[in-house]
Order: sequence, then structure tokens, then C-alpha cells
Amino acid sequence: MHEKESAVIKNIKLAARKPGQKTTIIDVNGIRVGEGLVIIAGPCSVETERQTIETAIAVKNAGAHMLRGGAFKPRTSPYAFQGLGLKGLKILDKARKETGLPVVTEVVDTRDVSWVGEYADVLQIGARNMQNFSLLREAGKSGKPILLKRGMYSTLEEWLNCAEYILAEGNPNVILCERGIRTFETYTRNTLDLSMIPAVKHESHLPILIDPSHGTGILSFIEPMSLAAVAAGANGLEIEVHIDPASALSDKDQQLTVPMFESLMNKLRKLRAFMDEPEMSSALQENMDTPAGKSAVQENSAQNTAPPLPGAFSEAVD
Ligand code: PEP
Ligand code: MN
Repeated sequence: MHEKESAVIKNIKLAARKPGQKTTIIDVNGIRVGEGLVIIAGPCSVETERQTIETAIAVKNAGAHMLRGGAFKPRTSPYAFQGLGLKGLKILDKARKETGLPVVTEVVDTRDVSWVGEYADVLQIGARNMQNFSLLREAGKSGKPILLKRGMYSTLEEWLNCAEYILAEGNPNVILCERGIRTFETYTRNTLDLSMIPAVKHESHLPILIDPSHGTGILSFIEPMSLAAVAAGANGLEIEVHIDPASALSDKDQQLTVPMFESLMNKLRKLRAFMDEPEMSSALQENMDTPAGKSAVQENSAQNTAPPLPGAFSEAVD
């Protein structure tokens, strides 16, 4: 049990950040989520081999660390494209072999967790399934890294309790992802709640990612909200990118083109370099992690034997 319980969140045991506890680093094939900035990019859905592999190569060349792509799509309408299923997973496997990028893909059904886990490096549990408790338990039993999205009507307390379901099965590999919530505001697809970055950091030791694609649903808003998320201390971003968004079978209006993604990555690199400057880094430090701060995280990094993260964002800030 942690010594001091949060004034707001009760009954969170395994997901809670104990005083002085450092952010947990989730190792995904050598990519260390929770350290530095991890970029997950790729199409909303796996549609064809060519679309997926070309997108994977493009995002890898632009500096992404993992590939996303849905083979099982939880769609609002039963008549909308539901994903390619097993065929989609096999395409993702080819894309992984081609690029070396670990694969993040959604699982929507309890019965599929173990076999989808054979293709996925990270299993995503989507917003609509956040409180599917049997799915959470099964995900916990799988032992795979789990990317748990925040439900669109869920509070932080409910979200952390869902993480707790996975952790309580003995699986410590949980990554949280804020993807926007439903509010009275309908101008954006969802209201991207960036205040969850400091809130999660305050309450939990689990890494927190931001999904600005579903979070805004508006192409031109993805870049500013990505930069804001990084400035606020997000551990990473999950972004939809498609080689030809106009032809996409799902979420065509919010998928970045490759040049847009490259331009965003260049800006993120500059922002990170600025945040890494010693004066800036120490000024930001208390917002970026536990009060124990940088030294605690570095200590943790040193204990981990995985090789350092390749690419643009290898230097840990928080
Ligand atoms: C997705 O990332 O593919 C997705 C369906 O997102 P969400 O569950 O956040 O709606
Ligand atoms: Mn999508």
C-alpha cells in the first residue's frame, strides 16, 4: 500500500504513484515507453498490404518508433468497415518485418486476446471498451503491453480503475492514452483533455500518451495539440497517418499525409531540443514527473538493460 492516498482518487493500489516513485518504463522490443518521447504512427485501419507497408516505411523514415493500425475496428455503425481481422494482422506482421517497428493493434473481443497477442507487440484497448472488464482481465492475463485508451465518458478515477484490472492480473505493462472525451462542445470530434497529463502524472506511475487524431478529429488541429501535449509532458503520441487519406476506409478526415507527419516530426524534434536545454529542462522538471524528478528516472533507466532508443527522441527528459 502506498503511504499517502490521493485526496481525489481512492482504492487505486497498483496503478497509484507512491511518494517519490518514478514513472514506470514499459519496454516494447527495446522501445522504452515512459522515457523520452515515443511516437506511434500509422493508419487508422489496415486496408491493404501496400497501404500499410508504404505507410509503415514512411513513418519509420520520419522517425516514428512504433506502427499503429487496426485490424479489428470498433465502428459506430455495424455497416461500416470492420477491419480485415486475421488478414490485417498478417499484413501488420509483414510491415513489422519490413521496418522493424513494433506493432500496436486493437483487440475488441475477449476471445481474441491470446491469438491477436501473437501478432501484436502492444494490444490496444479502445475507448469504447475501456470498461469491458472481462477484456481487461484477459488482457492482464496475456502479459502483453497494453495501451489502454480513456473511455469517452470516463473520469480519471474510472480509467485508473481499469488499469488496475489489468495490473491486478499480474501484468505490469500498462500504457495510458488520452483520446478526448465527450463534452457539450461539438466543434471538435472530442474534447482533448490535456489536463490528464499532469493529472495522470500526479496520481499514477504509468506512462501517459496523447492521441490528437481522435482527440480533435480535425487535420489542422493535430499538430498544435501534439506540440501542446509534448510541452505538457506527455510520454508519447499516437497519431493516424495514411499514404492517401482521401481513399481511407475509416477516419479519412483526420489522418495526416506523410508530408504533414514529417513536418510535425521536425517541429517535435525542435520542441524537444528546446525542452532538453539545461535551463528549460530544470524549469520544466517539476511538471514532468514525480517530485523525485530526473535523478530517480535516470536511476531507473540505468537499471534497465535494453539498448537506448534509436532515433530522434532518445534523450530522456522526464
Ligand atoms: C483507434 O485508435 O483506432 C480508435 C478506435 O480509437 P478510440 O478507441 O480512441 O476511439
Ligand atoms: Mn481512427
